[in-house]
Amino acid sequence: MTIKKGEILVIDDEEVIRSGCQQILEMSGYSVAVAENGRVGLDKIIQHDYDIILTDIMMPEMDGMELLDEIGRLGKELVVIVITGYATLDNAITAGRKGAYDYLPKPFNPDELLAKIERGLDYRAHLREVQLLRQDRDRNMLECSNERARTLTIINSMSEGVLAINRQGQIVLMNPMASKIMRLSEERAIGRTVDEIVRNPDLKKSIVASLQEVQAELSSTRLEFDTVYGRAIEASITPIIDENKECIGTVAVLIDVTEDKKIEKMKSDFVSYVAHELKAPLGAIEGYLNLILDGITADKPQTEHEMIEKARDRAHGLIALINDLLDLSRTDRKKSLKEMHAIDVEKVVREAVEFYRNRAEARSQHLTVQVDGQMPLIRANEEDLFRLYANLISNAIKYTPENGDVRVEIKRTKSHVRVDVIDTGIGISGEAQKHIFDEFYRAQNAVDKKITGTGLGLSIAKKIAEDHHGYIDVTSEEGVGSTFRVTLPIIQDE
Ligand code: ADP
Repeated sequence: MTIKKGEILVIDDEEVIRSGCQQILEMSGYSVAVAENGRVGLDKIIQHDYDIILTDIMMPEMDGMELLDEIGRLGKELVVIVITGYATLDNAITAGRKGAYDYLPKPFNPDELLAKIERGLDYRAHLREVQLLRQDRDRNMLECSNERARTLTIINSMSEGVLAINRQGQIVLMNPMASKIMRLSEERAIGRTVDEIVRNPDLKKSIVASLQEVQAELSSTRLEFDTVYGRAIEASITPIIDENKECIGTVAVLIDVTEDKKIEKMKSDFVSYVAHELKAPLGAIEGYLNLILDGITADKPQTEHEMIEKARDRAHGLIALINDLLDLSRTDRKKSLKEMHAIDVEKVVREAVEFYRNRAEARSQHLTVQVDGQMPLIRANEEDLFRLYANLISNAIKYTPENGDVRVEIKRTKSHVRVDVIDTGIGISGEAQKHIFDEFYRAQNAVDKKITGTGLGLSIAKKIAEDHHGYIDVTSEEGVGSTFRVTLPIIQDE
C-alpha cells in the first residue's frame, strides 16, 4: 500500500502532460488532481488546500500568469511550480515575481519532476511551520490585548480614582474617577508630570516621596485633603516595586469622602443638639428643685406650686423629645409594616382627638370632628396611624392661641381616605412650608412665640404616611391658620 505523501494539483491544457504527471506522481504515493486550464484549476484551489500546484503557463481560458495573480489575490500561501519550455524562461522569471516557488523546464523526465515536487514539499512544510508560529504569536498577542482590555475595563469602572505615575513622575494611567476628582481630562494628564498637574502640595509631596522609595517593602502613605472645589479626598499612595525590588513608579488611589464627612458631621451635630436640648430643661428642673429644697419657697406656697408646675412642664417637654427621638430611630418600622391590618380610620382619629381633648379644653379651644358618611377600611398599622393623627392634632392645639378652633374632617374619595386637621393658629410662611417636614426644622414664628417643640413630629408623620403608600401636605397662611391633609389608600374590593 502506498502512503499518500502530499496532494498535488496538475494544471495543463495538454492531456499527455496531465495524465503523464498524474501517473508518475501517483505511483510515487502522491494524491493527484488535474485541471485542463487556469479557470478550472482556480476553482479547485478555492475549494481545496493542495500541497503543490503544478501549472503550465500557456493555456486557454486562464493562463498560468493570470492564475498566479488570482492566487495572490486569494491570499493563500501556496507552493506553485510552473512548467515552462526553454523558450519561455523569461516567463518563469516573471512567474517567480508573481509568487511561483520554482519552475520545471519542458521536457522533463520523471526523476526531474519528482525532485522538484519533493523540494516543493520541503518548502511547503517550512511554510506550514512559519504559519503555525505566526498563528501562535497572533494568538498570544490577542490574549495579551484581551488581558489588557479586561484590566483597563476594571480600572475604568472603579469607584475609586486611580492614578499611575512612572519613575520620571509622569502620569501613565488615569481612570475616569481620578479624572472627575482632579477635574482634568485623561488626554490632558497622560504624559504630563505630577508637578504640572497635581495641585495639592501634600499629595504632590507624598507621590514624589513614594517614587524615591528605596526599601523593598511596600509601604503605603495615607493622607486626607480638600480639593479647591471643596471635595474631601482620602488618598493612598503605594510605590510599584519590580521583581528586582526597585521602585518603577507609584499608584495613587483617591476616594471622594465628601458625603461620608457630611454624614459624620450631621451625626455629631445631632448628638450635640440632643445633648443641648436635654441639658437646658434638666438644668431648669434641677434649679426649681434646689430652690424648693433650700426652703426659699417655704412660706410662699403659691410660688412653690408654680415652680413645681414649671418643672413638670419641662419634664413633659423632655419626655416628648425623647419619644420623638425614639420614633425617629425606630428600627422596627419594617416589622410594623408587616403588622398591618384592616383599620377603621374614623375610630383611630376619634381616639387621637379624645386623647388631646383635655389639652384643648385647657386652652379653651373648640375641638371638633366631622365625618363625611361611612368610611371604608384602610390597611395600616394602628399604632403608627394613631401616632400620625395625634401628631397633627397636638400641633394644631399647640400652635393655635386660646379660644381658637381645631377641626378634624374625614372624607373619602374613590380610592383614598382624607383626614384634614384644620386650625386657626399662627400659620406657616410659604418659605417655612418647604422645610417643615425636614427633621429638626422649626419655623421662625414658632420659635419667636416660644412654643416648645423638637422639629421631629412632622418628619415622623411624613414617614408613616409614606409607609402606608399615602402622603401628607399642608396649606397655610401666616396669622390665619393651617390645614394638614393626610391621604391614604383604601382597601379595594377584590
Ligand atoms: P415641633 O416639635 O417643633 O412641633 P414638628 O415637626 O411637628 O415639630 O413641626 C415642625 C414645625 O412646623 C414646627 O416647629 C412649626 O414651626 C411648624 N408647624 C407644625 N404644625 C403647625 C401648625 N399646626 N401651625 C403652625 N405651625 C406648625
